[in-house]
Formats: sequence, C-alpha cells, structure tokens
Amino acid sequence: MEDTLLVVNCGSSSLKLALFDGQYRKLASALAERLGQNDAFARVENRNEAIDLKPGAGHDQALEALVSAFRDQGLMASSPKAIGHRVVHGGETFREAVLIDDDVIRAIDSCAGLAPLHNPVNLSGIRATLAQFPEVPQAAVFDTAFHQTLPKRAFLYALPAAWYRDWGIRRYGFHGTSHAFMAAEAARLLGKTPATTSVISAHLGNGCSITAIRDGISVDTSMGLTPLEGLVMGTRSGDVDPGLFDFLRSKGIPAEEVHRVLNQESGLFGLSGQTNDMRSLCELADHGHEPSRTAIDVFCFRLARYVGAMMASLNHLDALVFTGGIGENSARIRQETINHLHLMGFELSTDLNKHHGEFSDGRIESTDSRFPVLVIPTNEELVIAREASRLAGPIDPA
Ligand code: ADP
Repeated sequence: MEDTLLVVNCGSSSLKLALFDGQYRKLASALAERLGQNDAFARVENRNEAIDLKPGAGHDQALEALVSAFRDQGLMASSPKAIGHRVVHGGETFREAVLIDDDVIRAIDSCAGLAPLHNPVNLSGIRATLAQFPEVPQAAVFDTAFHQTLPKRAFLYALPAAWYRDWGIRRYGFHGTSHAFMAAEAARLLGKTPATTSVISAHLGNGCSITAIRDGISVDTSMGLTPLEGLVMGTRSGDVDPGLFDFLRSKGIPAEEVHRVLNQESGLFGLSGQTNDMRSLCELADHGHEPSRTAIDVFCFRLARYVGAMMASLNHLDALVFTGGIGENSARIRQETINHLHLMGFELSTDLNKHHGEFSDGRIESTDSRFPVLVIPTNEELVIAREASRLAGPIDPA
C-alpha cells in the first residue's frame, strides 16, 4: 500500500480531513461538524451515510471515527507518512512550516492570545492526532507565515510604538497558504519563475483577503492583527472606523457586543439582512432585492479599492488573481470589481470570464487589458500536504 499524507483542519466546532497519496492526489475528504453539541455528526465526502458520533463528541472522537472510516474503505492501510495541520496564528515566531514538538506546541499556545478562537482548537486537533499517531511526523502550517516578509511600513499600525513592542500589535495577515499557492500557480501558468513573478491575489471565500506579492514574496495584505480587517466578507465587516466603538458605547452597546456584530452579523449578511452566501445574494439581487444589490456593490467596490492600494507595493504586475468560492465561481463579482478599475487598465473578456478561464489557462482578461487577470482554484490542503511531506523527509524503507 502506498504512502498517504493526512491534512487536518480544526475549526471551533468542526474538523476537516483530507487524505492524499504519495503523488499528492486527493484520495478522500471528510468532515465533522457541530462538535461539542448534541447533534455532532461526521461524514466522508461522496458517501451519503453519516457516521455516528456520540452527542457532545469532541475533536478527538471525530478524528478517531473519520480515520476508522478511511480504514474501512481501504484508503489508509497503515499510518500516514506525515500529517499536516493548518494553524491560524504563528505570530512572529513562525516564518515557515515546522515539525511539531513540545517547544512548537508551547509556542503555538503562546500565540493563542492573538487568535483566541483559532489557536486553541488547532492545538486540540494536534493533540488528538498526536495521541492517535504518536509515531508519525506532524507539521504545523501557519496562515500567517507567508506574510512574515511584510516590510515594517506595511505591517505597522500608526499606534504608540510600545503597543507593538510590548503586545505585538501589528498586521499579521492570514490566508497565507492560499496566497502562496496562488503566486506559485500564477507563475507556472504565465511561464515564469515564482521569484520573478509579482501578483495581486484576491482570496474571496467566506473570509476574504487580498495580498500584494512582489517577486514571490508577500509585501502587503488586507487582513491585520486579526482576520477582521480589510475586505467585506460573509459575516465580517472588514475595515470600519475604530471610532465606532466609542460612538456605540454612547448608545449603550458594550465593546464585546460590537465585536460580536462586526464578526458575525456584518459583511454581506449585515448589509443584505438576508444571507452571507454570495450565490444566494446574487439570486436575491436578480429578483430585485435592493439591500442584496447594495451588499454586492459595497463588496466589489471595496475589493477594487484594495486592488488599487496593493499597487503601491509593486514595481510591476504580472497578474491579478481571483480565488476562493466567490473568486473562482462568480463571473459577475469579478466583472463588477474590474468595472471600477478601467483607469488602471484592467479589462475582462466577457466570454473567458463567463467560463472562469477554464479553457484559457486561467486567463480571463481581454486583449486590450494592460494586465493579465487569472482565475486559479486554490488548494490549501495540497500545500499543507506538500509541506508536511517535505518536512517529514524521505521515509526509511526498513
Ligand atoms: P470558505 O471560506 O468557508 O472556504 P468558500 O471558499 O467555499 O468558503 O466560499 C464560499 C462562498 O463562495 C459563498 O459565499 C458562496 O456563495 C460563494 N460561491 C460559491 N459558488 C458561487 C457562485 N457560483 N457564484 C457566487 N458565489 C459563489
């Protein structure tokens, strides 16, 4: 039986697994949701039947159930060769992926203050996996690592210097694994080397961020200290005036409530009052729902504005790249965004855009566009699998 690589992505109440073979072909994915709740469930994708989980099952029980489902299906005869974990925040400690040992666990724990919703659950996934596969090398791949190359002028906020020095308040940036993948894929599609390729990469999923990548290196990005800053997202506001906290306090709304609304009830959901799902929003807008139309308009304008902002970090541009559920699938959102960028010389081909670049090596720009525009399906799991395999090194044939 061939080597396998396992990728683990833990959310606060969810666990996603992806299993790859030694040639990085995906063998299976699996998902557990509502962990810790009475209706916790799990299933292997492309199989209809759900896997029974006990009410209140946690990450460890979900992991055990899903791994044994992989085994029952003959997908994982022995332990994986390596395991890769998505870890949200690596602070300034981690500039790249690392093999996990006790020191790394302590360091991830010490970054938890910066990502209280994410790092502790990432760690519970790591602990559960270590308990189940103590002999397998495991790697932590950080969302923030790719952005550790940001220059000071891009990562510092204009705040008292002591806030950065004493508390680490700065721009960290997220979605780094996806942006790194996009930069490498764009270089490949354009027939260039990554080290000479400069792109602006827009990752548009439920969370959205945009990054300027200069000669293969991240030099500016829209998310900040937390993944709340920047673009309009599904339920997150992106940029707002911090003066809002004081204004709302005067209305009797405490900071914790403002924080909750900015994270969970804003963005597309807040503006439309209906949904955080872009596909549904487009349908609602088509049926004349004005707030949905407005939500789309704000989303695209903010994105276009950020494309302009990212230009300030580049000395040339090889491509603007779209990815994520929205970026890959919505010709309309790409078109409405590019409509704001005529002055910069971006133009789309209606036909290539309609087909998401599927028959044109990802290219969707028109012949008179000043810059190429690409659609590239992101693949964060693949990057994590590759990193885990690279760090685990060749396996001992004995
Ligand atoms: P996540 O960040 O959770 O991984 P995804 O990258 O899967 O999310 O993106 C989810 C978003 O992509 C949703 O808003 C969904 O509506 C949107 N999306 C998916 N397909 C389409 C489509 N054809 N048109 C518009 N939006 C789409």
